[in-house]
Amino acid sequence: MTYSPRTRLFIEAPLTPGAVIEAAEGQAHYLMHVMRAKAGEDVALFNGRDGEWGAKIAYPAKRKVHLEVGERLRAQYTEPDVWMVFAPVKRIEFLVEKATELGARALHPVFTRRTTIGRVNRARLLANAIEAAEQSDRLSVPEIPEAAQLFDVLGAWPKERTLYFLDETGGGAPIVEVFAAARSYRTVKKPLAFLTGPEGGFDQSELDALRGLPFAVPVGLGPRILRAETAALAALACWQAFCGDWTYPGDEG
Ligand code: SAM
Repeated sequence: MTYSPRTRLFIEAPLTPGAVIEAAEGQAHYLMHVMRAKAGEDVALFNGRDGEWGAKIAYPAKRKVHLEVGERLRAQYTEPDVWMVFAPVKRIEFLVEKATELGARALHPVFTRRTTIGRVNRARLLANAIEAAEQSDRLSVPEIPEAAQLFDVLGAWPKERTLYFLDETGGGAPIVEVFAAARSYRTVKKPLAFLTGPEGGFDQSELDALRGLPFAVPVGLGPRILRAETAALAALACWQAFCGDWTYPGDEG
């Protein structure tokens, strides 16, 4: 059976042939009233584990939508193990959406000394990430832990993961030089993360502490001061282009 879905949906349930999944309320509303999908129409489903599956839409009762799973359309693909650690900024939802499109595997909001945003709505960020994953043909949704203090996160940091912190004060080497040394992720698969500061930047004590961490590497993004979301996305794009899955077809998990 061939499927030509015009909609992709992230669902939590396991995906197996013949499974019947009841669409969540928001998704049911979207299919019925936004997409005005007809019974029997195709939809693509993914859950971050089982690849992408074709399914048929059924309306067993008023306001109920069933997704009748058929066959697997694509094998699971796992994004490169790159995290985006970021101080919350005004355009945090834009940052989350774009970092999802750029393939970040996890997005860690961290409070720094000059962060002006006091709380982070994790559920809202997750909804942004799911929508971006559905739209960008991803087969996974980035993990988004609760926001935490920067040095609490660094205190529990997995030592095998390199932390590239974006240093606007010129203390970092140009990103091309930093990555020229890093062979393609395809051969090395070394986990990594990027860290960007808030609108007011890192304060000196944070920069001094970061420079003292064995797993932290300062990185420069040229002579201009970028907005935090610009810096985060520029660094991710550079990495994907030099070392990540922009250098090889997405056929590897
Ligand atoms: N302190 C400055 C200010 O208040 O305008 C800069 C803060 S900048 C808007 C926010 C973050 O973006 C910085 O903490 C840094 O992580 C990153 N960033 C901005 N420009 C950068 C550059 N040229 N090189 C490296 N990182 C940069």
